[in-house]
Amino acid sequence: MNVRNPYDAVVVGAGPAGCAAAYHLAVRGRRVLLLEAQRFPRDKVCGDALTQRAVRILAAMGVLDCLPHAERMRGARVHMRGRGWRDFVYDAYPGTDSHGLVVPRVVLDEAVARRAVAVGAELWEGAAVTAPIVEGGRVVGVRVFRGGRPVDVRAAVVVAADGARSPLARAVGLLPGGELGVGVGVRGYLTGLDGLRDLQEAFLPLDDVAGRDLLPSFGWINPTGASEANVGVALFRPGYEGRAEQVLQHFLARLSTRGKEFGGRLRGEWATAPFRLDFSPDRCVADGILLVGDAAGLVNPFTGEGISYALESGKIAAEVIDRGLTNDPARPDLLDHALLLEHSYSGWLGAGRRSAQRYQFVWRVLESTFDSERAPFALCRRAVLLPEGIGELRANRTIDDVATLMAPGVEVRADLLGVGELMTSSVRDEWPFLARVATSGWGDPGVPFRPALLLLLATHFGDPGTRCGIKQSAAIKLGAAIELSALAALAQLGVENTPTPHSSWGNRFAILVSDLLMSKSLHLATDGGPQALSVLSQAVTKVCTGRIRERQHAFDPGVTEDEHLSLVELQTASSFELPCRLGAVVAGADPEHAASLASYGRALGVAFRLTEDIRMLTGANGPGDNTAGAVLRDGTLAHPVLIALRRTQGRLTSLVRGGCRTAGEVDEAVALVRESGALEVTRALAREQAVRAAVALEALPEGPPRASLFALIDYAVTRRLPQRPALESLFG
Ligand SMILES: Cc1cc2nc3c(=O)[nH]c(=O)nc-3n(C[C@H](O)[C@H](O)[C@H](O)COP(=O)(O)OP(=O)(O)OC[C@H]3O[C@@H](n4cnc5c(N)ncnc54)[C@H](O)[C@@H]3O)c2cc1C
Repeated sequence: MNVRNPYDAVVVGAGPAGCAAAYHLAVRGRRVLLLEAQRFPRDKVCGDALTQRAVRILAAMGVLDCLPHAERMRGARVHMRGRGWRDFVYDAYPGTDSHGLVVPRVVLDEAVARRAVAVGAELWEGAAVTAPIVEGGRVVGVRVFRGGRPVDVRAAVVVAADGARSPLARAVGLLPGGELGVGVGVRGYLTGLDGLRDLQEAFLPLDDVAGRDLLPSFGWINPTGASEANVGVALFRPGYEGRAEQVLQHFLARLSTRGKEFGGRLRGEWATAPFRLDFSPDRCVADGILLVGDAAGLVNPFTGEGISYALESGKIAAEVIDRGLTNDPARPDLLDHALLLEHSYSGWLGAGRRSAQRYQFVWRVLESTFDSERAPFALCRRAVLLPEGIGELRANRTIDDVATLMAPGVEVRADLLGVGELMTSSVRDEWPFLARVATSGWGDPGVPFRPALLLLLATHFGDPGTRCGIKQSAAIKLGAAIELSALAALAQLGVENTPTPHSSWGNRFAILVSDLLMSKSLHLATDGGPQALSVLSQAVTKVCTGRIRERQHAFDPGVTEDEHLSLVELQTASSFELPCRLGAVVAGADPEHAASLASYGRALGVAFRLTEDIRMLTGANGPGDNTAGAVLRDGTLAHPVLIALRRTQGRLTSLVRGGCRTAGEVDEAVALVRESGALEVTRALAREQAVRAAVALEALPEGPPRASLFALIDYAVTRRLPQRPALESLFG
């Protein structure tokens, strides 16, 4: 018998997760009832910070227009104890909001709930769910206490959005019994503050009165007005619960010594709430019920941020329910929910509790590398602290996003996404945060492109019938292998020659990460067969040999240009040649085309590197780019420096030998190189290599793939990309 339920879905809890689920069901025309135990306006213990990601989701739901007031944040300032602070500013995405907000939950939650009602959801306030209704092992509704009496509500699906404690999830066996025991936060509102900035401020790590670190932990100040802020502490370890208030007082005492802006009066009371960081997709769904938001444990294990995940998971649940109801109105299949959550959060949250010990290590690494500008540390900083699309990677040009260079007709979208997913899945279990390193910022398809793109382009050559099935999956695996090996090389560059006492974790971390990524890369390449493995290992050997030889010649002004170019051949040229060769292997390209692609890659690599040398010395990467200083201090001799040494000698030679110890010496060395005319020589050589790459392409068949390879040559020597919108159109 097909029993018609009065509701398609009943959603328990009108926080961001429940309201988002109700909103997205209602806009799809589903009959949805939203149950909330309290009455609006109701408060919620929270830091009130909405990341840029959360703001974008709320904007899409039409909630922002209903907010009476919100403080705009242009990013976050992270203070690392004893190591100063750093600003992480939100990237602007075309046509979207480029800021975060601070909105007290007493305002936000009501606005989201009212929005759900406005599009057709029914809301019962003061309606506390006391138990699920279970029939034949399936959840078919809930018992609600409303208006002083119990009411049974039946629905095809129940959504548990009842927060971190989620009594409903517990009642149906989706949560372990006992205490939550994962983390705790305390917050209050301070008024009378002065000099607040338009940044969220985070202070880490916290310590106890005896000065012992409490890892992982942090305190925050999120301005809610000109002179008022939400202030609190978060402790992400089981067993810290009893200490939270004491830690908070210690944090406040420290803050008040920093200056007037931090000494305010408490409005209202301090309030405490638990953090649940134990997301596990397989316990987010059972017969007839889905978990979303905090009930699913969807909280960032580093920052405590959960509103964006709550909103997102509510939407995901609504889509799954809608699809399921379309296929079977009486008994919708909900299993996709677990898959989609897993896919969306790719281990970052999933491994939260399991990885608590490793996170401690990661926090140590973060601390010890906080003042390092090296790319792997910059990547990890962003991945750990601010994964929500906050840019710090503008300066990191090792990874180039060249997607906009694809000619119309070259379809690479699915394969590139596949590469990103594979990279993520191959590192997520051991090091969840590396999954975020492997994939780039929000809104991107998730792949650092340069080598992967070349590989995928290269697979457009050869027998047209081969781009399917096994060959395509091999291409994706090899694309991921290449990217992981590139990241491994990047991590290696994080090793400092003269570590300070603080940075010892940095070196260990860089070496471990490099080894791990390289082993993952080789593992993936085995699937491409012995030839692919051989090509990859040869390239890696060359890159490492180049690096060793570069070290041998560090600070040596006597290195000749030819010797230097042979190092460039070993390092950069072979890393560009690699995807071309592998692409040819996978595509089954004939030997002539394979050889052309390989020489194209080599010449492209040299052109790219020489241009990079010029950019480094001319500060082309904008203010704050201190690569020239880092490289000169490291003793790595760029091509223009060698030319200039031959032309000028004297002062430049002694500066190079001495490793340019001060910023003044770096500036002096760079000025000498520029005056010598060396940049023009290097530029001419880069162009020569570009011509060589173009000549190699002549042997290849005409068409969009070849046009794209030409566009890459132009990019290698000009570093000009077409406008960003092309990326959106490519990746839909
Ligand atoms: C101290 C602290 C600071 C935080 N700071 C931030 C921050 O700055 N930014 C950020 O993004 N995240 C922050 N978070 C996390 C964020 O608060 C949560 O991730 C977010 O609230 C989750 O939304 P939700 O809808 O899943 O659950 P909730 O917001 O907890 O909503 C659950 C709702 O269910 C209702 N409910 C519960 N039981 C029942 C029942 N039996 N029947 C009916 N209704 C019921 C509750 O009344 C509530 O309205 C913080 C968390 C804590 C603890």
